[in-house]
Amino acid sequence: MRLNLNRPALLACLTLPLWCAPMPLGWAADAVRPNAESLHALPALGDGSELSLSDERRMGDQIARAIYRDPDYLDDPVLDGYLETLWRPLLAAARQRGEVSPELAERFAWTLMIGRDRSVNAFALPGGYFGVHLGLIATVTSADELASVLAHELSHVSQRHIARMITRQGQQLPWVMASMLLGALAASAAKNTDIAQAAIVGGQAVAAQSQLNFSRDMEREADRVGFGVMTDAGFDGQGFATMFDKLQQASRLNDDGSFPYLRSHPLSTERMADMRARTAPAADRDVPVTDSVIGRTKPPATAACQAMMSARAQVLAETQVDRLRALAATLDSGPAPVDPVAALRQRYAATLAAARLREETQVWRGLQQLRSVAPLPDDAARALRWLELELLPDLLASAGLQGPASVRWTQVLESALASDRREDLLLLASALLKVPAPGLRPGAEAQVTQRLQQWTALHPHDASAWQALASLHTARQRPVLAARAEAESRWAQLDKVGALERLRSAQRLSRESHFDHFEQSILDARVREIERQLREDLRDKEKR
Ligand SMILES: [Zn+2]
Repeated sequence: MRLNLNRPALLACLTLPLWCAPMPLGWAADAVRPNAESLHALPALGDGSELSLSDERRMGDQIARAIYRDPDYLDDPVLDGYLETLWRPLLAAARQRGEVSPELAERFAWTLMIGRDRSVNAFALPGGYFGVHLGLIATVTSADELASVLAHELSHVSQRHIARMITRQGQQLPWVMASMLLGALAASAAKNTDIAQAAIVGGQAVAAQSQLNFSRDMEREADRVGFGVMTDAGFDGQGFATMFDKLQQASRLNDDGSFPYLRSHPLSTERMADMRARTAPAADRDVPVTDSVIGRTKPPATAACQAMMSARAQVLAETQVDRLRALAATLDSGPAPVDPVAALRQRYAATLAAARLREETQVWRGLQQLRSVAPLPDDAARALRWLELELLPDLLASAGLQGPASVRWTQVLESALASDRREDLLLLASALLKVPAPGLRPGAEAQVTQRLQQWTALHPHDASAWQALASLHTARQRPVLAARAEAESRWAQLDKVGALERLRSAQRLSRESHFDHFEQSILDARVREIERQLREDLRDKEKR
Protein backbone atom coordinates (compact mmCIF):
# COMPACT_ATOMS: atom_id res chain seq x y z
CA MET A 1 0.00 0.00 0.00
CA ARG A 2 1.27 3.46 -0.85
CA LEU A 3 0.91 6.18 1.69
CA ASN A 4 1.56 9.71 0.69
CA LEU A 5 0.54 12.61 2.80
CA ASN A 6 -1.15 15.34 0.87
CA ARG A 7 -1.46 17.74 3.75
CA PRO A 8 0.77 20.76 3.89
CA ALA A 9 3.94 20.00 5.81
CA LEU A 10 3.31 23.11 7.88
CA LEU A 11 0.19 21.62 9.30
CA ALA A 12 1.94 18.39 10.18
CA CYS A 13 4.62 20.35 12.03
CA LEU A 14 2.05 22.41 13.80
CA THR A 15 0.08 19.50 15.12
CA LEU A 16 3.06 17.45 16.18
CA PRO A 17 3.88 19.08 19.48
CA LEU A 18 0.39 18.27 20.71
CA TRP A 19 0.89 14.60 20.38
CA CYS A 20 3.84 12.56 21.47
CA ALA A 21 6.12 15.03 19.84
CA PRO A 22 9.89 14.92 19.38
CA MET A 23 11.79 16.96 21.87
CA PRO A 24 13.50 20.20 21.03
CA LEU A 25 17.14 19.75 22.00
CA GLY A 26 17.33 22.41 24.68
CA TRP A 27 14.50 20.93 26.62
CA ALA A 28 15.55 17.35 26.03
CA ALA A 29 18.78 17.83 27.92
CA ASP A 30 16.81 19.06 30.88
CA ALA A 31 14.02 16.52 30.65
CA VAL A 32 15.94 13.31 30.23
CA ARG A 33 17.51 12.07 33.37
CA PRO A 34 19.60 8.97 33.19
CA ASN A 35 17.90 6.86 35.82
CA ALA A 36 14.41 5.57 36.35
CA GLU A 37 14.07 7.42 39.68
CA SER A 38 13.36 10.59 37.73
CA LEU A 39 9.84 9.34 37.16
CA HIS A 40 9.19 9.45 40.87
CA ALA A 41 10.34 13.03 40.97
CA LEU A 42 7.36 14.03 38.88
CA PRO A 43 4.40 15.34 40.86
CA ALA A 44 2.22 12.57 42.22
CA LEU A 45 -1.47 12.42 41.52
CA GLY A 46 -3.48 14.62 43.82
CA ASP A 47 -0.61 16.43 45.54
CA GLY A 48 -2.11 19.73 44.51
CA SER A 49 0.75 20.79 42.30
CA GLU A 50 -0.67 19.61 39.02
CA LEU A 51 -3.62 20.17 36.82
CA SER A 52 -6.75 18.80 38.48
CA LEU A 53 -8.78 16.06 36.83
CA SER A 54 -11.65 18.42 36.19
CA ASP A 55 -9.43 21.13 34.69
CA GLU A 56 -7.83 18.60 32.38
CA ARG A 57 -11.23 17.21 31.42
CA ARG A 58 -12.58 20.69 30.75
CA MET A 59 -9.64 21.40 28.48
CA GLY A 60 -10.18 18.08 26.69
CA ASP A 61 -13.88 18.86 26.23
CA GLN A 62 -13.03 22.16 24.53
CA ILE A 63 -10.67 20.46 22.12
CA ALA A 64 -13.08 17.58 21.47
CA ARG A 65 -15.90 20.02 20.71
CA ALA A 66 -13.73 21.58 17.99
CA ILE A 67 -12.76 18.17 16.60
CA TYR A 68 -16.41 17.08 16.32
CA ARG A 69 -17.02 20.11 14.10
CA ASP A 70 -13.96 19.48 11.95
CA PRO A 71 -14.80 18.14 8.48
CA ASP A 72 -11.98 15.62 8.90
CA TYR A 73 -13.68 14.06 11.92
CA LEU A 74 -15.09 10.73 10.72
CA ASP A 75 -18.33 9.39 12.12
CA ASP A 76 -18.33 5.76 10.93
CA PRO A 77 -20.29 3.22 12.99
CA VAL A 78 -18.33 0.28 11.55
CA LEU A 79 -14.82 1.55 12.33
CA ASP A 80 -16.02 3.04 15.63
CA GLY A 81 -17.36 -0.37 16.60
CA TYR A 82 -14.15 -2.09 15.56
CA LEU A 83 -11.96 0.28 17.60
CA GLU A 84 -14.30 -0.16 20.57
CA THR A 85 -13.79 -3.94 20.35
CA LEU A 86 -10.08 -3.33 20.98
CA TRP A 87 -10.47 -0.37 23.31
CA ARG A 88 -12.89 -1.89 25.82
CA PRO A 89 -10.59 -4.75 26.93
CA LEU A 90 -7.62 -2.34 27.08
CA LEU A 91 -9.50 0.03 29.35
CA ALA A 92 -10.79 -2.85 31.47
CA ALA A 93 -7.25 -4.20 31.86
CA ALA A 94 -5.90 -0.75 32.77
CA ARG A 95 -8.58 -0.47 35.48
CA GLN A 96 -7.94 -3.94 36.78
CA ARG A 97 -4.21 -3.27 37.00
CA GLY A 98 -4.89 -0.06 38.90
CA GLU A 99 -3.39 2.16 36.18
CA VAL A 100 -6.77 3.82 35.80
CA SER A 101 -8.31 4.51 39.20
CA PRO A 102 -12.11 4.39 39.58
CA GLU A 103 -12.06 8.19 39.88
CA LEU A 104 -10.02 8.64 36.71
CA ALA A 105 -12.23 6.13 34.91
CA GLU A 106 -15.29 8.15 35.81
CA ARG A 107 -13.99 11.68 35.36
CA PHE A 108 -12.30 11.25 31.98
CA ALA A 109 -14.00 10.69 28.63
CA TRP A 110 -12.02 7.64 27.38
CA THR A 111 -13.32 8.40 23.92
CA LEU A 112 -11.69 7.58 20.59
CA MET A 113 -12.16 9.90 17.64
CA ILE A 114 -11.27 8.92 14.08
CA GLY A 115 -9.61 11.43 11.77
CA ARG A 116 -10.06 11.13 8.02
CA ASP A 117 -6.35 11.26 7.37
CA ARG A 118 -4.05 8.94 5.44
CA SER A 119 -1.10 9.52 7.73
CA VAL A 120 -0.11 6.87 10.26
CA ASN A 121 -0.82 8.46 13.61
CA ALA A 122 -2.58 8.27 16.94
CA PHE A 123 -2.44 10.72 19.81
CA ALA A 124 -3.68 11.39 23.30
CA LEU A 125 -5.43 14.62 24.22
CA PRO A 126 -6.23 16.03 27.65
CA GLY A 127 -9.17 14.58 29.56
CA GLY A 128 -9.11 11.10 28.05
CA TYR A 129 -9.81 11.88 24.39
CA PHE A 130 -7.80 10.06 21.75
CA GLY A 131 -7.33 10.61 18.05
CA VAL A 132 -6.76 7.75 15.62
CA HIS A 133 -6.01 8.41 11.96
CA LEU A 134 -7.44 6.19 9.22
CA GLY A 135 -3.86 5.73 7.96
CA LEU A 136 -2.94 3.86 11.14
CA ILE A 137 -5.92 1.48 10.89
CA ALA A 138 -5.09 0.89 7.21
CA THR A 139 -1.41 0.17 7.86
CA VAL A 140 -1.49 -2.30 10.74
CA THR A 141 -1.56 -5.98 9.82
CA SER A 142 -2.98 -7.29 13.09
CA ALA A 143 -5.36 -6.13 15.80
CA ASP A 144 -2.42 -6.60 18.21
CA GLU A 145 -0.41 -3.91 16.41
CA LEU A 146 -3.30 -1.46 16.59
CA ALA A 147 -3.86 -2.38 20.25
CA SER A 148 -0.18 -1.71 21.02
CA VAL A 149 -0.50 1.88 19.80
CA LEU A 150 -3.82 2.40 21.60
CA ALA A 151 -2.39 0.95 24.82
CA HIS A 152 0.64 3.22 24.61
CA GLU A 153 -1.53 6.32 24.15
CA LEU A 154 -3.93 5.19 26.88
CA SER A 155 -0.95 4.96 29.21
CA HIS A 156 0.14 8.54 28.48
CA VAL A 157 -3.25 9.55 29.85
CA SER A 158 -3.48 7.06 32.72
CA GLN A 159 0.00 8.12 33.93
CA ARG A 160 -1.18 11.74 33.76
CA HIS A 161 1.68 12.69 31.45
CA ILE A 162 -0.32 15.53 29.93
CA ALA A 163 -1.09 17.01 33.34
CA ARG A 164 2.55 16.67 34.37
CA MET A 165 3.80 18.43 31.26
CA ILE A 166 1.32 21.21 31.61
CA THR A 167 2.21 21.72 35.27
CA ARG A 168 5.84 21.78 34.34
CA GLN A 169 5.34 24.29 31.59
CA GLY A 170 3.35 26.76 33.62
CA GLN A 171 -0.19 27.91 33.95
CA GLN A 172 -0.61 29.58 30.58
CA LEU A 173 -0.08 26.32 28.78
CA PRO A 174 -3.57 24.82 28.82
CA TRP A 175 -4.82 27.77 26.84
CA VAL A 176 -1.77 27.88 24.63
CA MET A 177 -2.27 24.23 23.89
CA ALA A 178 -5.97 24.60 23.20
CA SER A 179 -5.37 27.54 20.90
CA MET A 180 -2.69 25.62 19.02
CA LEU A 181 -5.00 22.74 18.44
CA LEU A 182 -7.83 24.98 17.44
CA GLY A 183 -5.42 26.72 15.08
CA ALA A 184 -4.52 23.37 13.54
CA LEU A 185 -8.16 22.44 13.12
CA ALA A 186 -9.04 25.79 11.64
CA ALA A 187 -6.20 25.32 9.19
CA SER A 188 -7.37 21.89 8.16
CA ALA A 189 -10.95 23.07 7.77
CA ALA A 190 -10.18 26.21 5.84
CA LYS A 191 -7.02 25.45 3.93
CA ASN A 192 -5.35 28.41 2.27
CA THR A 193 -7.52 31.07 3.79
CA ASP A 194 -6.11 34.02 5.68
CA ILE A 195 -7.48 32.67 8.92
CA ALA A 196 -5.74 29.37 8.43
CA GLN A 197 -2.48 31.09 7.60
CA ALA A 198 -2.73 33.29 10.66
CA ALA A 199 -3.44 30.27 12.80
CA ILE A 200 -0.43 28.47 11.37
CA VAL A 201 1.89 31.38 11.95
CA GLY A 202 0.54 31.90 15.46
CA GLY A 203 0.69 28.21 16.20
CA GLN A 204 4.26 27.89 15.03
CA ALA A 205 5.39 30.72 17.23
CA VAL A 206 3.63 29.10 20.14
CA ALA A 207 5.06 25.69 19.26
CA ALA A 208 8.57 27.09 19.31
CA GLN A 209 8.09 28.49 22.78
CA SER A 210 5.93 25.95 24.46
CA GLN A 211 7.91 22.75 23.94
CA LEU A 212 4.99 20.62 24.88
CA ASN A 213 6.45 17.19 24.50
CA PHE A 214 6.50 13.91 26.29
CA SER A 215 9.92 13.25 27.73
CA ARG A 216 11.82 10.07 26.95
CA ASP A 217 11.03 8.86 30.46
CA MET A 218 7.36 9.33 29.72
CA GLU A 219 7.67 7.47 26.42
CA ARG A 220 9.42 4.60 28.20
CA GLU A 221 6.75 4.56 30.87
CA ALA A 222 3.97 4.55 28.25
CA ASP A 223 5.71 1.59 26.54
CA ARG A 224 6.09 -0.32 29.79
CA VAL A 225 2.59 0.33 31.11
CA GLY A 226 1.04 -0.01 27.66
CA PHE A 227 2.69 -3.39 27.18
CA GLY A 228 1.30 -4.67 30.47
CA VAL A 229 -2.15 -3.32 29.65
CA MET A 230 -2.28 -4.86 26.18
CA THR A 231 -1.08 -8.30 27.27
CA ASP A 232 -3.45 -8.29 30.25
CA ALA A 233 -6.24 -7.42 27.84
CA GLY A 234 -5.52 -10.60 25.91
CA PHE A 235 -3.56 -9.17 22.99
CA ASP A 236 -0.32 -10.68 21.80
CA GLY A 237 2.65 -8.63 23.05
CA GLN A 238 4.37 -9.39 19.75
CA GLY A 239 2.14 -6.67 18.30
CA PHE A 240 4.30 -4.10 20.09
CA ALA A 241 7.46 -5.50 18.48
CA THR A 242 6.01 -5.86 14.98
CA MET A 243 4.62 -2.32 15.15
CA PHE A 244 8.11 -1.11 16.06
CA ASP A 245 9.52 -3.07 13.11
CA LYS A 246 6.94 -1.61 10.77
CA LEU A 247 7.74 1.94 11.85
CA GLN A 248 11.47 1.30 11.66
CA GLN A 249 11.15 -0.05 8.15
CA ALA A 250 9.18 3.03 7.18
CA SER A 251 11.87 5.27 8.62
CA ARG A 252 14.50 3.51 6.52
CA LEU A 253 12.39 3.95 3.40
CA ASN A 254 12.32 7.69 4.01
CA ASP A 255 9.80 9.42 6.20
CA ASP A 256 7.80 11.55 3.79
CA GLY A 257 5.36 12.79 6.36
CA SER A 258 2.94 9.88 6.13
CA PHE A 259 4.25 8.50 9.42
CA PRO A 260 3.91 11.36 11.92
CA TYR A 261 3.72 8.77 14.69
CA LEU A 262 7.29 7.90 13.84
CA ARG A 263 8.50 11.45 14.23
CA SER A 264 6.69 11.82 17.53
CA HIS A 265 8.04 8.48 18.73
CA PRO A 266 11.70 8.35 17.77
CA LEU A 267 12.69 4.69 17.82
CA SER A 268 15.63 4.69 20.11
CA THR A 269 17.54 1.42 20.07
CA GLU A 270 16.97 1.34 23.81
CA ARG A 271 13.17 1.40 23.45
CA MET A 272 13.26 -1.31 20.83
CA ALA A 273 15.60 -3.51 22.84
CA ASP A 274 13.33 -3.13 25.85
CA MET A 275 10.27 -4.19 23.85
CA ARG A 276 12.13 -7.15 22.32
CA ALA A 277 13.12 -8.27 25.82
CA ARG A 278 9.51 -8.11 26.91
CA THR A 279 8.30 -10.21 23.99
CA ALA A 280 11.21 -12.68 24.04
CA PRO A 281 10.71 -16.28 25.26
CA ALA A 282 10.53 -16.45 29.07
CA ALA A 283 14.09 -17.70 29.62
CA ASP A 284 15.62 -14.65 27.94
CA ARG A 285 13.54 -12.14 29.81
CA ASP A 286 15.09 -9.71 32.20
CA VAL A 287 11.84 -7.86 32.80
CA PRO A 288 8.96 -9.54 34.55
CA VAL A 289 5.85 -9.79 32.40
CA THR A 290 2.56 -9.82 34.26
CA ASP A 291 0.27 -12.75 33.70
CA SER A 292 -3.00 -12.04 32.04
CA VAL A 293 -5.53 -10.93 34.64
CA ILE A 294 -8.44 -11.01 32.25
CA GLY A 295 -7.71 -14.52 31.06
CA ARG A 296 -9.10 -13.99 27.60
CA THR A 297 -8.99 -17.08 25.45
CA LYS A 298 -10.35 -15.57 22.25
CA PRO A 299 -8.67 -12.65 20.48
CA PRO A 300 -10.89 -9.54 20.43
CA ALA A 301 -10.85 -9.48 16.61
CA THR A 302 -10.04 -12.17 14.05
CA ALA A 303 -7.47 -11.66 11.30
CA ALA A 304 -10.30 -11.76 8.75
CA CYS A 305 -12.19 -8.93 10.44
CA GLN A 306 -9.01 -6.91 10.96
CA ALA A 307 -8.17 -7.23 7.24
CA MET A 308 -11.61 -5.94 6.27
CA MET A 309 -11.36 -3.00 8.67
CA SER A 310 -7.90 -2.07 7.33
CA ALA A 311 -9.32 -2.18 3.81
CA ARG A 312 -12.22 0.04 4.89
CA ALA A 313 -9.86 2.58 6.46
CA GLN A 314 -7.69 2.58 3.35
CA VAL A 315 -10.62 3.32 1.03
CA LEU A 316 -12.27 5.91 3.30
CA ALA A 317 -8.95 7.78 3.58
CA GLU A 318 -8.44 7.80 -0.19
CA THR A 319 -8.97 11.16 -1.86
CA GLN A 320 -7.69 10.43 -5.37
CA VAL A 321 -10.06 9.06 -7.98
CA ASP A 322 -7.37 7.21 -9.96
CA ARG A 323 -6.26 5.34 -6.86
CA LEU A 324 -9.86 4.37 -6.12
CA ARG A 325 -10.09 3.16 -9.73
CA ALA A 326 -6.94 1.08 -9.32
CA LEU A 327 -8.39 -0.52 -6.18
CA ALA A 328 -11.73 -1.26 -7.86
CA ALA A 329 -9.96 -2.70 -10.92
CA THR A 330 -8.58 -5.60 -8.87
CA LEU A 331 -12.07 -7.14 -9.13
CA ASP A 332 -11.44 -7.68 -12.84
CA SER A 333 -7.75 -8.51 -12.78
CA GLY A 334 -7.85 -12.23 -12.25
CA PRO A 335 -8.69 -14.49 -9.32
CA ALA A 336 -8.58 -13.28 -5.71
CA PRO A 337 -5.50 -14.17 -3.64
CA VAL A 338 -5.52 -17.78 -2.41
CA ASP A 339 -5.04 -16.75 1.21
CA PRO A 340 -8.62 -16.05 2.38
CA VAL A 341 -7.55 -13.13 4.62
CA ALA A 342 -5.70 -11.45 1.75
CA ALA A 343 -8.66 -12.15 -0.53
CA LEU A 344 -11.07 -10.54 1.94
CA ARG A 345 -8.91 -7.47 2.27
CA GLN A 346 -8.51 -7.04 -1.48
CA ARG A 347 -12.17 -7.69 -2.32
CA TYR A 348 -13.48 -5.47 0.49
CA ALA A 349 -11.27 -2.56 -0.62
CA ALA A 350 -12.22 -3.07 -4.28
CA THR A 351 -15.97 -3.22 -3.54
CA LEU A 352 -16.00 -0.14 -1.33
CA ALA A 353 -13.82 1.74 -3.84
CA ALA A 354 -16.28 0.81 -6.61
CA ALA A 355 -19.11 2.13 -4.43
CA ARG A 356 -17.32 5.44 -3.93
CA LEU A 357 -17.00 5.63 -7.72
CA ARG A 358 -20.70 4.71 -8.12
CA GLU A 359 -19.88 1.71 -10.28
CA GLU A 360 -22.95 -0.35 -9.35
CA THR A 361 -22.20 -3.42 -11.48
CA GLN A 362 -18.73 -3.71 -9.96
CA VAL A 363 -20.15 -3.26 -6.46
CA TRP A 364 -22.58 -6.13 -7.01
CA ARG A 365 -19.80 -8.35 -8.38
CA GLY A 366 -17.56 -7.44 -5.43
CA LEU A 367 -20.26 -8.31 -2.89
CA GLN A 368 -20.84 -11.66 -4.58
CA GLN A 369 -17.12 -12.41 -4.54
CA LEU A 370 -16.90 -11.46 -0.87
CA ARG A 371 -19.76 -13.79 -0.07
CA SER A 372 -17.94 -16.61 -1.84
CA VAL A 373 -14.99 -16.35 0.60
CA ALA A 374 -16.41 -18.78 3.12
CA PRO A 375 -16.68 -19.81 5.86
CA LEU A 376 -16.18 -16.51 7.65
CA PRO A 377 -15.66 -16.13 11.39
CA ASP A 378 -18.55 -14.36 13.15
CA ASP A 379 -16.99 -10.89 13.30
CA ALA A 380 -16.02 -10.97 9.61
CA ALA A 381 -19.51 -12.20 8.65
CA ARG A 382 -20.95 -9.23 10.53
CA ALA A 383 -18.54 -6.87 8.78
CA LEU A 384 -19.74 -8.24 5.43
CA ARG A 385 -23.39 -7.79 6.45
CA TRP A 386 -22.65 -4.15 7.35
CA LEU A 387 -21.02 -3.59 3.98
CA GLU A 388 -24.11 -5.01 2.26
CA LEU A 389 -26.39 -2.93 4.46
CA GLU A 390 -24.43 0.11 3.41
CA LEU A 391 -24.14 -0.62 -0.32
CA LEU A 392 -27.25 -2.57 -1.38
CA PRO A 393 -29.72 0.36 -1.05
CA ASP A 394 -27.97 2.15 -3.93
CA LEU A 395 -28.13 -0.99 -6.06
CA LEU A 396 -31.89 -1.30 -5.53
CA ALA A 397 -32.31 1.88 -7.53
CA SER A 398 -30.19 0.60 -10.41
CA ALA A 399 -32.22 -0.79 -13.33
CA GLY A 400 -30.04 -3.77 -14.14
CA LEU A 401 -29.60 -5.01 -10.56
CA GLN A 402 -32.99 -4.46 -8.98
CA GLY A 403 -34.03 -8.12 -9.11
CA PRO A 404 -31.04 -9.95 -7.59
CA ALA A 405 -30.18 -7.07 -5.24
CA SER A 406 -33.67 -6.95 -3.78
CA VAL A 407 -33.64 -10.67 -2.95
CA ARG A 408 -30.36 -10.22 -1.09
CA TRP A 409 -31.56 -6.97 0.49
CA THR A 410 -34.54 -8.70 2.11
CA GLN A 411 -32.20 -11.23 3.75
CA VAL A 412 -29.75 -8.58 4.95
CA LEU A 413 -32.57 -6.37 6.25
CA GLU A 414 -34.03 -9.22 8.32
CA SER A 415 -30.65 -10.18 9.86
CA ALA A 416 -29.94 -6.54 10.70
CA LEU A 417 -33.38 -6.08 12.28
CA ALA A 418 -32.79 -9.18 14.40
CA SER A 419 -29.42 -7.89 15.67
CA ASP A 420 -28.86 -5.72 18.73
CA ARG A 421 -25.58 -4.22 17.51
CA ARG A 422 -25.16 -0.47 17.24
CA GLU A 423 -23.62 -0.83 13.77
CA ASP A 424 -26.77 -2.57 12.47
CA LEU A 425 -29.03 0.03 13.99
CA LEU A 426 -27.18 3.05 12.59
CA LEU A 427 -26.66 1.50 9.15
CA LEU A 428 -30.34 0.48 9.05
CA ALA A 429 -31.31 4.07 9.81
CA SER A 430 -29.25 5.45 6.94
CA ALA A 431 -30.42 2.66 4.61
CA LEU A 432 -34.06 3.52 5.36
CA LEU A 433 -33.49 7.03 4.08
CA LYS A 434 -32.24 5.65 0.75
CA VAL A 435 -34.26 2.51 0.06
CA PRO A 436 -37.31 3.03 -2.17
CA ALA A 437 -40.55 2.14 -0.38
CA PRO A 438 -41.07 -1.25 -2.12
CA GLY A 439 -37.78 -2.43 -0.57
CA LEU A 440 -39.22 -2.28 2.93
CA ARG A 441 -41.64 -4.60 4.59
CA PRO A 442 -44.42 -2.92 6.57
CA GLY A 443 -43.36 -1.91 10.04
CA ALA A 444 -39.59 -2.00 9.38
CA GLU A 445 -39.16 1.74 9.69
CA ALA A 446 -41.29 2.05 12.82
CA GLN A 447 -39.23 -0.77 14.32
CA VAL A 448 -35.92 1.01 13.60
CA THR A 449 -37.22 4.35 14.94
CA GLN A 450 -38.43 2.71 18.13
CA ARG A 451 -35.14 0.87 18.60
CA LEU A 452 -33.20 4.12 18.11
CA GLN A 453 -35.39 5.76 20.75
CA GLN A 454 -34.64 2.93 23.16
CA TRP A 455 -30.94 3.08 22.31
CA THR A 456 -30.66 6.83 22.92
CA ALA A 457 -32.49 6.46 26.23
CA LEU A 458 -29.82 3.97 27.30
CA HIS A 459 -26.92 5.81 25.63
CA PRO A 460 -27.78 9.52 25.86
CA HIS A 461 -24.21 10.50 24.86
CA ASP A 462 -24.37 8.72 21.49
CA ALA A 463 -24.39 11.73 19.15
CA SER A 464 -24.58 9.59 16.00
CA ALA A 465 -27.63 7.70 17.22
CA TRP A 466 -29.40 10.98 18.03
CA GLN A 467 -28.44 12.29 14.60
CA ALA A 468 -29.80 9.15 12.91
CA LEU A 469 -33.05 9.61 14.80
CA ALA A 470 -33.17 13.27 13.79
CA SER A 471 -32.71 12.35 10.12
CA LEU A 472 -35.53 9.79 10.23
CA HIS A 473 -37.85 12.30 11.93
CA THR A 474 -36.95 15.00 9.40
CA ALA A 475 -37.56 12.69 6.45
CA ARG A 476 -41.01 11.80 7.78
CA GLN A 477 -41.97 15.40 8.59
CA ARG A 478 -41.81 15.23 12.36
CA PRO A 479 -40.10 18.59 12.96
CA VAL A 480 -40.47 18.82 16.75
CA LEU A 481 -38.99 15.39 17.36
CA ALA A 482 -36.30 16.07 14.76
CA ALA A 483 -35.27 19.32 16.45
CA ARG A 484 -35.20 17.65 19.88
CA ALA A 485 -33.02 14.76 18.58
CA GLU A 486 -30.70 17.19 16.86
CA ALA A 487 -30.38 19.18 20.06
CA GLU A 488 -29.37 16.03 21.95
CA SER A 489 -26.84 15.21 19.25
CA ARG A 490 -25.28 18.67 19.67
CA TRP A 491 -25.31 18.21 23.42
CA ALA A 492 -23.52 14.88 23.11
CA GLN A 493 -20.85 16.59 21.01
CA LEU A 494 -20.40 19.16 23.79
CA ASP A 495 -22.00 22.01 21.82
CA LYS A 496 -24.24 23.39 24.58
CA VAL A 497 -25.18 26.59 22.79
CA GLY A 498 -26.15 24.71 19.61
CA ALA A 499 -28.21 22.29 21.72
CA LEU A 500 -30.07 25.14 23.41
CA GLU A 501 -30.87 26.83 20.08
CA ARG A 502 -32.39 23.64 18.70
CA LEU A 503 -34.33 22.89 21.87
CA ARG A 504 -35.83 26.37 21.80
CA SER A 505 -36.88 25.92 18.21
CA ALA A 506 -38.43 22.54 19.16
CA GLN A 507 -40.27 24.34 21.98
CA ARG A 508 -41.58 26.97 19.56
CA LEU A 509 -42.68 24.39 17.00
CA SER A 510 -44.38 22.26 19.62
CA ARG A 511 -46.41 25.19 20.92
CA GLU A 512 -47.43 26.23 17.44
CA SER A 513 -48.55 22.74 16.53
CA HIS A 514 -50.15 21.98 19.94
CA PHE A 515 -47.80 19.06 20.29
CA ASP A 516 -48.15 16.29 22.85
CA HIS A 517 -48.20 17.82 26.34
CA PHE A 518 -45.83 15.26 27.81
CA GLU A 519 -43.20 15.91 25.10
CA GLN A 520 -43.57 19.65 25.72
CA SER A 521 -42.77 19.28 29.38
CA ILE A 522 -39.66 17.21 28.55
CA LEU A 523 -38.52 20.03 26.24
CA ASP A 524 -39.14 22.67 28.92
CA ALA A 525 -37.14 20.70 31.47
CA ARG A 526 -34.23 20.20 29.05
CA VAL A 527 -34.14 23.92 28.19
CA ARG A 528 -34.01 24.83 31.89
CA GLU A 529 -31.28 22.28 32.55
CA ILE A 530 -29.05 23.49 29.70
CA GLU A 531 -29.60 27.15 30.63
CA ARG A 532 -28.52 26.32 34.18
CA GLN A 533 -25.38 24.58 32.93
CA LEU A 534 -24.47 27.47 30.66
CA ARG A 535 -24.82 29.89 33.60
CA GLU A 536 -22.55 27.63 35.67
CA ASP A 537 -19.94 27.53 32.90
CA LEU A 538 -19.98 31.31 32.78
CA ARG A 539 -19.48 31.55 36.55
CA ASP A 540 -16.56 29.07 36.33
CA LYS A 541 -14.96 31.10 33.58
CA GLU A 542 -15.24 34.32 35.59
CA LYS A 543 -13.62 32.62 38.58
CA ARG A 544 -10.64 31.55 36.49
ZN1 LIG B 1 4.12 8.32 23.23
